[in-house]
Amino acid sequence: MASKLTEFDIAVVGGGMVGAAMATALAGTGWTVAVIEPRLPADWHAEDDYDLRVSAINRASQNLLTRLGVWEDILEMRANPYRRMRVWDARSTGEISFDAMELTEPDLGHIIENRVIQLALLKALEAFENVRLLAGVELKGIEFRHGEVRLFLSNRTRIHARLIIGADGARSRLRELANIHRSRRDYGQVAIVAAVTTKAPHESTAWQRFLSTGPLAFLPLHDGRSSIVWSLPVREADRLMALEDADFCKELGEAFEYRLGEVTKVGRRGAFPLIGGQSYPYVRSRVALVGDAAHSIHPLAGQGVNLGFMDVAELADILDDLRIDPGRLDLLRRYERARRGENEAVMRLMEGFRGIFGTSLPLLSPLRGVGIRAVDRFSPLKRRIMAHALGTAGHRPKLALTPQDAPK
Ligand SMILES: Cc1cc2nc3c(=O)[nH]c(=O)nc-3n(C[C@H](O)[C@H](O)[C@H](O)COP(=O)(O)OP(=O)(O)OC[C@H]3O[C@@H](n4cnc5c(N)ncnc54)[C@H](O)[C@@H]3O)c2cc1C
Repeated sequence: MASKLTEFDIAVVGGGMVGAAMATALAGTGWTVAVIEPRLPADWHAEDDYDLRVSAINRASQNLLTRLGVWEDILEMRANPYRRMRVWDARSTGEISFDAMELTEPDLGHIIENRVIQLALLKALEAFENVRLLAGVELKGIEFRHGEVRLFLSNRTRIHARLIIGADGARSRLRELANIHRSRRDYGQVAIVAAVTTKAPHESTAWQRFLSTGPLAFLPLHDGRSSIVWSLPVREADRLMALEDADFCKELGEAFEYRLGEVTKVGRRGAFPLIGGQSYPYVRSRVALVGDAAHSIHPLAGQGVNLGFMDVAELADILDDLRIDPGRLDLLRRYERARRGENEAVMRLMEGFRGIFGTSLPLLSPLRGVGIRAVDRFSPLKRRIMAHALGTAGHRPKLALTPQDAPK
């Protein structure tokens, strides 16, 4: 066990949603942990307006957050369950709907602000004496030494750890420093996000329309508004970002076929370039990457952070033994074997969706409509799709199971 304040068993680089969850999961296992995060989120107040960044959190992630003891805190701040999903195509008559009741589930997931999740996790860390949050500093350099890594921080201090976990996002500095390769997939798109008011209520439904330019989602918020994620080619996004609010609302309503009536108001708008990628490998001796540092995907199915949380659950499970050296490559490879296949399968599924809905070949449109309607009527396939969306299909790490699901 590490003794001096600058010596830790594990250093987590990045205290975003995934890094904070990683540190909380490890804290519970007894390792000494340092978390390095340059930008802490602002405190939360009930009267705060919705943040631009929200995530659709699925059942498997909810289970993890429950096991980490933060789910109730998240609900107390702000989270909104959605009970239905409706997905349809602009260039055919195809439409699929999913209903929690059909699946005998209470809901299909929750829409939660990223900051709320991050704050709840960082707060939970305060209870652990074996965790130290190094706030306001970033990782600048590393040096591999026998049996440990030295981390050089922006405040000119140095810490040592036996394992360093990169949760520092898609542009991970640790990944560069550790010479880990990243494939890059530029979708050529930007996602416009904002909270909008519509004439009709959102019906606790997550809506998604596939347009030839990209998907447009309306995600239901607690106060009756919807959070939009509108993925568009860069130029089109620039044009829409420059519009006055009234004109933006008009174009948005049209693009959404007025499913919730007119869009009457839009809050502050934000635009995020969409770039995917995979790191090869996720691990090397004394280094592991999790979350967006390891992989990032198009937000069309709202899976990015959900996959990151499963990385956390898997790695924490593997490291749940204080007698081992946490930086051992054979252990870290076990983590990569468990996660790479799952993450890449979801990425391929998303690319498949983009391919089916994104094709502009006119002859394929009617076929697409037939196919989508067939899926909608064929409940076993629908159930399978939903199980993937809920994160309850395939291999699930222990921390992502409900106590009822967990093996006895
Ligand atoms: C428009 C949009 C909508 C999305 N919607 C969804 C959704 O509905 N559901 C879903 O599951 N996913 C969604 N995603 C994906 C999701 O936002 C990401 O997968 C998630 O934020 C990744 O979390 P992370 O903690 O791995 O990385 P990040 O959120 O990028 O956090 C990285 C952290 O590392 C810190 N950091 C950076 N550099 C350093 C350094 N050198 N030293 C120390 N710390 C550092 C940063 O300050 C930051 O706090 C969406 C993405 C976009 C763009």
